Amino acid sequence: MRPFILDPLFASVRSLKGIGPRTGKLLETLTGSEKIAALLWHLPVRFIDRRFTPKIADVPNHSIVTLTVKIEQHTPPSSRGRPYRIRCTDGSGIIDLIYFHAKGAWLEAQYPVGATRIVSGEAEYFHGRLQMPHPDMTGTEAERHQIEIIESVYPMTAGLTHKTMHKMVTQALEDLPDLPEWQDAALLKRENWPGWKDAVIKAHHPESESDLSPRRLERERLAYDELLANQLAIALVRRHNRRQGGRALPPCPDTFAKMRAALPFTLTGAQERTLEEINTDMRDPVRMLRLLQGDVGSGKTVVAFFAMLNAVTNGAQAALMAPTEILAQQHIKTITAFADALGIETAVLTGRHKGKTRQEILAKIASGDAKIIIGTHALFQDDVVYRDLALAVVDEQHRFGVQQRLTLAAKGKGCDILVMTATPIPRTLTLTAYGDMDVSRLDEKPAGRRPIDTRLVSAARLDEVVAGLQRKISAGARAYWVCPLVEESELIDLAAAEDRYLALQNVFGERTGLIHGRLKAAEKEEIMRRFAAGEIDVLVATTVIEVGVDVPEATVMIIEHAERFGLSQLHQLRGRIGRGEEDSTCILVYDPKIGESGKKRLTVIRNTEDGFVIAEEDLKLRGAGEILGTRQSGMPEFRLVNLHEHARLVPIARDDARLIIEKYPDLKTERGQALKTLLYLFERDSAIQYLHSG
Ligand code: ADP
Ligand code: MG
Repeated sequence: MRPFILDPLFASVRSLKGIGPRTGKLLETLTGSEKIAALLWHLPVRFIDRRFTPKIADVPNHSIVTLTVKIEQHTPPSSRGRPYRIRCTDGSGIIDLIYFHAKGAWLEAQYPVGATRIVSGEAEYFHGRLQMPHPDMTGTEAERHQIEIIESVYPMTAGLTHKTMHKMVTQALEDLPDLPEWQDAALLKRENWPGWKDAVIKAHHPESESDLSPRRLERERLAYDELLANQLAIALVRRHNRRQGGRALPPCPDTFAKMRAALPFTLTGAQERTLEEINTDMRDPVRMLRLLQGDVGSGKTVVAFFAMLNAVTNGAQAALMAPTEILAQQHIKTITAFADALGIETAVLTGRHKGKTRQEILAKIASGDAKIIIGTHALFQDDVVYRDLALAVVDEQHRFGVQQRLTLAAKGKGCDILVMTATPIPRTLTLTAYGDMDVSRLDEKPAGRRPIDTRLVSAARLDEVVAGLQRKISAGARAYWVCPLVEESELIDLAAAEDRYLALQNVFGERTGLIHGRLKAAEKEEIMRRFAAGEIDVLVATTVIEVGVDVPEATVMIIEHAERFGLSQLHQLRGRIGRGEEDSTCILVYDPKIGESGKKRLTVIRNTEDGFVIAEEDLKLRGAGEILGTRQSGMPEFRLVNLHEHARLVPIARDDARLIIEKYPDLKTERGQALKTLLYLFERDSAIQYLHSG
């Protein structure tokens, strides 16, 4: 149960004075939640210093000033469209307050002639006269202390005013609970971090530019809180996994030797190293939960196959699950070839298998005749019963959260799990998103891969691109032509792709194809099949070209509006080519109106094919969600952590979390209780169930 002390932070902002459902909704639009905690995590991005209080005569043009003035005269607009003027003085000079479309009566009440008022806003000279259009703040002498301040400015959404925002934040900060300190005293001292409450208050009251930096002490402290919650949750899940007994599946050297001999290539150093890591896990009676990371084409499937051999040579079964039918087909082709060489029986199960066929396959899986089973999600449906499943390999395209991985693991008893991902993930991100798993990296490409010649070309020169493509196609090349997806409207995107398809069809005739997300799976498959078989030369595609689909003969990729893609996405796309013997070319066509920074981004892609370098850059430029694809999957993103700026803190939090569960295994001590509060505060409390289980 959530500690009561957190209740005020989990209440809706509607519970605040003067805040209603409409504002609650606006905050939700802005932050994803209308809880007070969400408001607190919504930190200012700027501030306005209203402490500058010159005499009118000394006001610099276009400056933010707070003035103490006497109201002299009201001049209503002489005609429509003209402003209402209120002349004021302080003895040193004259300033006009200017209002457009304001009600005279309201202004008369606000600024009675002869009264003294404090006004704050931007002052400017207009035709030689000093004026302040629509003061930001006004009040009486008694209200001076509310006006002469440094005002925080928050990221906003239409309909929400700064005034309302301040009303909410002020109340929320006044009611902040005194939470127990969950951080280690020595760490706080070393980092010079304030306590939680002070940190929140200070973070909302920047007084200088440097206060806005994510590396500011109070912002770091808050980010570290969030990171520790994340790492603690992950450490708990990890411990839970480890405690679940696994089984010992020692590798069989003879089979390995046979397999190596059957391969038309030798394994890369990275493949060997990874295989050794996997073998060690599988040999031990602990449960393997390992992430195999490697760029497209780095040779993950072969490694996975060796791991599957460990299961099979120990008399058990192994399953490989692909995210889509097309990818499953791809794996089936590769794996079956390997398995046949060793005389191992395989089975294939996807959503396409129905009725009697399906029953026969299920029977083979249940009897154990099928040793290696390949398929889609169909593999883990309730009625699929394995005789003895010892290893599940998951080729991950849709990212799973920590929780989903646990569910998957429950399908086989003590079953080892190997997750493959083609997304190069920066280390900081691996720790925060996959920290519950051990990680192997295939950071070396198989020998003989030729570099891809990547070029940047302005869309103004599209004709030349088409002409160049024509030459390549006549010479026997096959090409992808990628049209961008802009999220707002799939239909408009599709129209753009269709137009391009028709235009290219005029040039390349019937051997042009079009593939997009609106097609049925079977239609997509058929088109990919025809492209792979060489019946299509130019394949126009929205971004649906599947990660992992292997058409080694495709050597050209043209990406239109390359500036609209994330770097990691461009890298993934480009990975579709450069897979065969021939030289490959990738042309990034950019909008001529592209800015400097946009061009710089594309240059990163041109200059390197190292997915990890590109991912680091993407993390810097666009944030974690882009790389993990979590914006689609709904995995929670960090609210206070910026993985680029706070990278230094990630390994500290990991070590901290591991030490914590060693020292306070049940989180029962005083600090343990405080840490539980932290988990609840950042809604990582689902991990608490693993405190006692297993
Ligand atoms: P990934 O799954 O990482 O994208 P694959 O396992 O599909 O990569 O391998 C891509 C291609 O490279 C396949 O055709 C595979 O047979 C080949 N390959 C794998 N390992 C090596 C190696 N060490 N040397 C040469 N080719 C390899
Ligand atoms: Mg593969």
